[in-house]
Amino acid sequence: MKQKTTINQALPQTAEPINKLIQELNKLPGIGPKSAQRIAYYLLRSSEEEAKLLAEAILSVKRQITLCSSCFNVTDSDPCRICGSLERDRNKICIVEQPQDILALEHTRIYKGLYHVLHGAISPTEGVGTDDIRIKELLERLKGNEINEVILATNTNLEGEQTALYLQRLISPLGIRLTRLARGLPFGTELEYADDVTLTRAFEGRQEF
Ligand SMILES: [Zn+2]
Repeated sequence: MKQKTTINQALPQTAEPINKLIQELNKLPGIGPKSAQRIAYYLLRSSEEEAKLLAEAILSVKRQITLCSSCFNVTDSDPCRICGSLERDRNKICIVEQPQDILALEHTRIYKGLYHVLHGAISPTEGVGTDDIRIKELLERLKGNEINEVILATNTNLEGEQTALYLQRLISPLGIRLTRLARGLPFGTELEYADDVTLTRAFEGRQEF
């Protein structure tokens, strides 16, 4: 996890509602103090209608989005669109750490199977154990279905590797083909930020794990 600069103190010369907005924006990933100020003043200049659309969009993701009860992807319908689709290959499950990793992989259009979102990776240093991510649910899925390939697409950092190794120990005895994305992805890469070409190559070059 990268540390980011946050504004801890309100700027005394600025009106309180503006300060509040800047502070909230600054909590968002990738938004530093300068960007937070720029967005806040942009919103201040925009029409009430525009501001309302943004506020409502934020609230509706919180109110309408749940997790798919099968793959744990974020969704507004259960099962999600991928699990519910008749066009997907139901014999393959690709394991990812976060819902946004699905977005990155879907963007490449290379994979037509199902997914399973762990919602994290094993990290003893951050106190994330094997019971804290959706591993139990994954094993249930593997037992109950005719899955013939599991693709490990966890991140290529330490936590992702640890998680992949742990899953390998659990899945190998089940007699299911197990593959891992090829090392086209540099170590330390978060899937979400990989470009399409690298991700496509890594997917095509996936290996027995
Ligand atoms: Zn689903």
